[in-house]
Amino acid sequence: MSLDPRHSHSSRPDASEWSDASSRATLQLIAESVAQMVGFEVAVISAVHEDVFMSVAIKGDDDVRNVLGEMLTPVDSVREDLAIAEDWGRFKFIGHEKSIDHDEYRWVPDIEQGPEPDAWHPLDMLLAPLHDNEGGLRGLLSIDLPVTGRRPDPAQVGLLERYAAQAERALLNAIEREALSQRLRLAEAARRVVQVAVSQPDIEAALNECRPALLDGFRADEVTIRTYSDEIVPARGTPLPGTTDGVRGIVRQLAHACWTQQRVGILTTEWYDDDLIDDHEHAALLEVALAQGFASSMIVPMGAGQRCLGHLILVRKDDETAWTADERTGALEVARDIGHAVLSSRNLAREQRLVSELRELDTYKTQLLSTVSHELKNPLGAVVGHLELVAGDPALSEDTQYSVGAMQRATGRISRVVSDLLTLAKLEDPEGRRPLSALDLRPAIQAAADSSRFAAEQNELAIHVVAPAGPLPVIGDAEELERLLSNLVSNAVKYSPSGGDVTITVTYGPLTTPDPRASSAGPVDREVEIAISDEGIGISSADQERLFTEFFRSSNPQALEQPGTGLGLAIAERIVRGHDGQMSVESALGEGSTFRVFLPVPAT
Ligand code: ADP
Repeated sequence: MSLDPRHSHSSRPDASEWSDASSRATLQLIAESVAQMVGFEVAVISAVHEDVFMSVAIKGDDDVRNVLGEMLTPVDSVREDLAIAEDWGRFKFIGHEKSIDHDEYRWVPDIEQGPEPDAWHPLDMLLAPLHDNEGGLRGLLSIDLPVTGRRPDPAQVGLLERYAAQAERALLNAIEREALSQRLRLAEAARRVVQVAVSQPDIEAALNECRPALLDGFRADEVTIRTYSDEIVPARGTPLPGTTDGVRGIVRQLAHACWTQQRVGILTTEWYDDDLIDDHEHAALLEVALAQGFASSMIVPMGAGQRCLGHLILVRKDDETAWTADERTGALEVARDIGHAVLSSRNLAREQRLVSELRELDTYKTQLLSTVSHELKNPLGAVVGHLELVAGDPALSEDTQYSVGAMQRATGRISRVVSDLLTLAKLEDPEGRRPLSALDLRPAIQAAADSSRFAAEQNELAIHVVAPAGPLPVIGDAEELERLLSNLVSNAVKYSPSGGDVTITVTYGPLTTPDPRASSAGPVDREVEIAISDEGIGISSADQERLFTEFFRSSNPQALEQPGTGLGLAIAERIVRGHDGQMSVESALGEGSTFRVFLPVPAT
């Protein structure tokens, strides 16, 4: 069973709040003038609301006002009357002898018909349909009870014609104001909801803060907001007391169906939509609604794209006010906005979860590397030591000497990897970090250049240092800075063909970050740039992106010819980060590379 919501009218419009006060006053004035000027005791202007007429201006005594104020006349019954009416121009006359028995929808004056042939009969009807510009029926001007007791004469009909035109204009104006004020109210609610939703990182708090705007904008007595759980986020919102899993399931299924059809679901004691739920489900929902004192509920699906993510339920406790078409579309729009906010907060939660999983993985990897390298260090030391002993034995055959030499070279490589891994593990352990202090950069530069001097000479490369005269102040850790610069200079030498220059350039300048910052060694207002440039093989832009990840070695065959662990730049990057500094690279294949390091300088 499904009742048509428009005829069931469990809820009725409120004429005293319809449109705005000045439009209502204008209509009342017209009703009073038409009665007075044409000579009738009763004049009523009514407006079409959904499928009924509701009186919006009434001139008449208390009885008339009480009866007509409450009455909702179906538009269909008026159309039937109009179909058989006599055409008097704008006004249509239905004589009592023709009148259809629609008495339950009209007010019938308590009068006796006079003896004259044109005497007014209590069942006579005189009404002017009021149309909009497209010809749609939007209202009625009806008059009754002529003061003379007779049907109007041609002069009166002429006057009536003018009043009908005036009433039509005023009514259309009032209807427009009504639509506008509703739209404004709903738009305002939507604006506030969106503002709250986007400004709150915590979606649950945002949903709670949306409540007042929704209650106000939709003239609702209660609102519940619920989002459904997914694989990451649990369901949010407080269910109404008395709801069982079964009821929640029905609402959810209803919301999903509504989202698919992009509509809302209305539930009143008398009406529901059997496209969406059946008798049994209606009864289950109604039981909860009635227990809470809800007369009429609008179930609004929230979602984004194809997905229904939750629902709003707006509730009215009195059944006097129907959910208008504007309110229904307005609610759907607001729910769409909230749906987007819910979706983006879920995406954020998903991202955060992914990030924390990656972090965990990273910590695990670091721990693994650190454990393995620690475990390798001692046995490796023993192997290296014993190999040295064996190598020193003059009695070794040539073949054995060769094998021992190969083993020494191999263990040398393993030792370098293990030592790099230990360094990396130490740099990643926040507790193992030493405090930074103000120091002079010159010894670190000297040591870095010296450590590569031999390899550079072998390769006919010249290492230059271009720096301001005198001390080069910086905030840092001497040992780490030496390691950083040595790694960069040794790479510059290693990845350059013979002949050419490697240059270390030191320059001081203002901070690249706008605000002065503090470091563990005091305030900082400048930084030093150390650029290490070479004229070597260069690095492709694809490789540049992964340069600082552990174990990364270029795909360039020329680079792979050189021995390496792929840990040098990862170590360099960790050191720079530990110094609150920055690092960048510029390079072009075949032309050379420049690695730049920016470090804080103590304020002078
Ligand atoms: P490796 O032990 O392989 O040198 P690094 O972490 O120091 O490890 O460097 C990673 C990769 O970056 C190297 O394998 C090399 O391909 C590339 N690379 C580093 N510095 C340079 C440079 N100055 N010129 C060309 N390629 C470089």
